Amino acid sequence: MIVVMAPGSTAQQLEHVVHTVEQMGLTTHVIHGTNRVVVAAVGDKRMVDKEAVETLPGVERIVPILAPYKVASREVKPEDTAIALSPAGVRVGAGQKIAVIAGPCSVEDRHSLLDTARAVQEAGGVGLRAGAFKPRTSPYSFQGLGELGLEYLAEARAQTGLAIVTEVLTVSHVPLVASYADVLQVGARNMQNFMLLKAVGEQSKPVLLKRGMSATLEEFLLAAEYVINAGNPNVILCERGIRTFEDYCRNTLALTVVPAIKRVSHLPVIVDPTHGTGHAYLVEPMSLAAIAAGADGLLIEVHPDPEHALTDAAQQIDLSHFRRIMERLARVAAAVDRAL
Ligand code: PEP
Ligand code: MN
Repeated sequence: MIVVMAPGSTAQQLEHVVHTVEQMGLTTHVIHGTNRVVVAAVGDKRMVDKEAVETLPGVERIVPILAPYKVASREVKPEDTAIALSPAGVRVGAGQKIAVIAGPCSVEDRHSLLDTARAVQEAGGVGLRAGAFKPRTSPYSFQGLGELGLEYLAEARAQTGLAIVTEVLTVSHVPLVASYADVLQVGARNMQNFMLLKAVGEQSKPVLLKRGMSATLEEFLLAAEYVINAGNPNVILCERGIRTFEDYCRNTLALTVVPAIKRVSHLPVIVDPTHGTGHAYLVEPMSLAAIAAGADGLLIEVHPDPEHALTDAAQQIDLSHFRRIMERLARVAAAVDRAL
């Protein structure tokens, strides 16, 4: 339920409401909107006496939350959420500039990572994304450099100021990855790894949550809900394509999910046209389309020499192609009243 505080209610009244609701066994999220303060109370409501809450001083009314996802829904927070990618402050969502996050699929070696980072930054990217721990289908494929990869990423941040986004594969790695990264990526294969969702929710770095390859919109938002309920409201959703019968591309990029999520959720949505298609030639048109469809940002894999990439060689674009895409993206963004 949503407890709507009356205009002019005091901080003490708010505190009392939060305390009372928590005593009933619910978790509270206080949201300071433009006109009103609301308390979203989520959890098992069987033991909740709604009337007792409705009559507390400072409470205007109580509204049930109808969507299965609660704190991610617009019912609880009508206005868009913007999330800072790093303490330095580039924000994604809520009509802020379109954030382009790019980088190689994997951290392969120090030099190529630093070269790529410089190219991403010069072309107007705001984040560097590369995997140090890779979720690979085959146990015989390159698994990533591990902590050494994280060290190179930190060096790239120091040189370029780019926010570092990198995947965390497992609960036990969360403190290590969070000690290097600005944003923790939870990959498609882990979208419903509920223990991992809780673990990234219990730390303070923003989370980039990729849509599971067979997840519905509702399952995607419920996964975000796990992170938020664990204490971390900073979840960026990423559409990365879903598995369908279609086989001309690696996945089917579901751009419809961008406006569909924006209709029901306040969270920022970015699009990954790289994994979403699996082919370098499809990255540019789908990047342009994603911006036109209202995405708050993009996640693009770029590599100085895609042909020889250790992972995802077929879908990475080279650095000069990335620069060209950025120029065209700026023009599409302007056409839909946005900016890069
Ligand atoms: C990735 O971003 O490198 C990745 C493995 O993506 P996904 O989880 O979407 O497959
Ligand atoms: Mn990849």
